[in-house]
Amino acid sequence: MSVKDSALLRGKTAVVTGGAGFVPSHLVERLLADGLKVIALDNFVTGHRRNIEHLIGNPDFQFIEQDVSESFEIEGPVDFVFHMASPASPIDYVKIPLETLKAGSYASHNALELARVKGATYLVASTSEVYGDPEIHPQPEGYWGNVNPVGVRSCYDEAKRYAEAVTMAYHRAHGVDTKIVRIFNTYGPRMRLDDGRVVPAFIGQALRGEPMTMFGGGGQTRSFCYVSDLVEGIWKLARSNTNDPVNIGNPHEMTIYQFGEAIARHFDIELEVENRPMPPDDPKVRKPDIARAKDVLHWEPVVSFDDGIARTIEYFRGVVATV
Ligand code: NAD
Ligand code: UDP
Repeated sequence: MSVKDSALLRGKTAVVTGGAGFVPSHLVERLLADGLKVIALDNFVTGHRRNIEHLIGNPDFQFIEQDVSESFEIEGPVDFVFHMASPASPIDYVKIPLETLKAGSYASHNALELARVKGATYLVASTSEVYGDPEIHPQPEGYWGNVNPVGVRSCYDEAKRYAEAVTMAYHRAHGVDTKIVRIFNTYGPRMRLDDGRVVPAFIGQALRGEPMTMFGGGGQTRSFCYVSDLVEGIWKLARSNTNDPVNIGNPHEMTIYQFGEAIARHFDIELEVENRPMPPDDPKVRKPDIARAKDVLHWEPVVSFDDGIARTIEYFRGVVATV
């Protein structure tokens, strides 16, 4: 397996759906930094213009306001299609389940068609949620998952599972060069303070001097990856010659209670919690097996939890100061 040198791709064009979102806006920046031209599409359903505002005026960057679940056309050559658009936080996708299902289904078709017509490499942002509430720990790509197909999270989990299936069908039926990245919990600057995910929730609460909202006692585990590590893994996967799904995440696992303690330590405060019930179908454990990413992409995370959290807190301090 090999990963193409990014210097060979200067001047190529990448389309990024959901480009105004948290992870996708960092990917857009990375592609521009490597000399690509980027066309970002977003309808701002969960993303925000401020994430890409600083790129407006860059001659290599174009933004199109577009719901990618509706059909769309792109003029000129396209070399990469990154299908990143989808609500991603449990409070978002539970509020807009149909839009979430469409982002995995209709929008996947539209983005795959674009890749097929243009002869582009296609990469879809899948998720560790395809493993559901896992019975195998840590989760390797060969695990098929334990998903409740009718639960409140199913609009997201099943949409992503469908997105993977339609991706493989385009690869097999049309020969499209497709990539599937299974993203594990990622954090960093540009997350929304109110998106309900545990990282902005606990940091926001610490900044406001409020107790941390601990769901189900906090014994469930997650493994948090800093956004620049994820983007590096995504870009390497897009340049690789594998078509198999690849987990990208940080195997540094902790309970949510330990995560709360770590945030309290960064703020030099005592951990105070407000206990709340566990949301339905909340996975009890999650940790990526990254053997494939190491083997195929020569990728592993390099940003330590403490460094990543410190950078994220600094970002949120700025957001709170301007609210
Ligand atoms: P985000 O909500 O910040 O970004 C998603 C972007 O997609 C937003 O800007 C949103 O407005 C846009 N979007 C959604 N539906 C759209 C549509 N129909 N048309 C156009 N734009 C649309 O979320 P994120 O955390 O940056 O996630 C990005 C991608 O990575 C998602 O596909 C998500 O499922 C996946 N992912 C993220 C994580 C994580 O921990 N952040 C984990 C697993 C998977
Ligand atoms: N969580 C919590 N308090 C919060 C938000 C989340 O205890 O205010 C828990 C949630 O129940 C889950 C974990 O933290 O077990 C991670 O939640 P998040 O929404 O960030 O990601 P996901 O559930 O998608 O992994």
